[in-house]
Amino acid sequence: MSIEVVHTIADTRPAVAAARAAGQTIGLVPTMGALHEGHASLIRVAKHRCPFVVVSIFVNPAQFGPQEDLSRYPRTLSEDLALCEREGATLIFAPEPSEIYPEGFRTYVEVHELQDVLEGASRPGHFRGVATVVLKLFNILQPDRAYFGQKDAQQARIIRQMVRDLDVPVRVIVAPTVREPDGLALSSRNRYLEPVQRQEAVALSQALAAVQRRVAAGERDAVALRRVLADRIAAAPGAVLDYAEIVDADNLRPIERLERPALAVLAVRFGATRLIDNLPLSAPLE
Ligand code: AMP
Repeated sequence: MSIEVVHTIADTRPAVAAARAAGQTIGLVPTMGALHEGHASLIRVAKHRCPFVVVSIFVNPAQFGPQEDLSRYPRTLSEDLALCEREGATLIFAPEPSEIYPEGFRTYVEVHELQDVLEGASRPGHFRGVATVVLKLFNILQPDRAYFGQKDAQQARIIRQMVRDLDVPVRVIVAPTVREPDGLALSSRNRYLEPVQRQEAVALSQALAAVQRRVAAGERDAVALRRVLADRIAAAPGAVLDYAEIVDADNLRPIERLERPALAVLAVRFGATRLIDNLPLSAPLE
């Protein structure tokens, strides 16, 4: 059976109804398209558990700031459909912005505090847009399980909080970051990089790997670990640091010592292209 593509909310209903009536577990993989192996891995993880996998493809205007790359964000729908079909997704929901935000739209979801730090501090309003569209997708498609990437660790943390706070009946699953052979995390934005910037962009994963080595060697001082990140980026050609932090994995605030699950997080610019990456850190038992 070939994959079904729908563009309207009304058309999602009959497409999902038969699966639901048959008692099939429905998985959702929300994306902005320009799909790559990171998205493919989420579809595969979803497919493992859910016979019916919906991939949403929607470049969400509400999560882009006025100076950001909404208009130039890559749109590659026919390649995206081929990837979804290859990976065994069942349904693609690819709405127009007017379908999701019709005239008179007025309601937004805010996840306070978590939305204001790191990416939220650099991109005001970003997570309000993310949380709002994800809740709408949950309501439209009513999945049992929804799959997100560790690549966007703050996003995953915020969605988990929203689901908990608003009693949304969806199980959130976070899958590991997929990387290029040299360590660069896959991202739809990597295609903006000039060839030389693409080489330079390996600095993010190398800085994170340096932190990981220091933790493995016994370093627990988060200030020292943060300095490793910042120094690595400062020494990397072409890289301009936006932020580098060692944060608590739960509240996303900078920590002083590595005692609980934490994240090393980075945002770095190469010319006009801004890349993020992160690495979960856990202090081994002493
Ligand atoms: P996006 O299309 O960038 O909004 O991403 C859609 C989903 O794919 C999000 O849950 C991302 O965290 C996830 N994702 C993006 N890049 C990767 C990657 N390299 N590895 C794993 N998941 C990813």
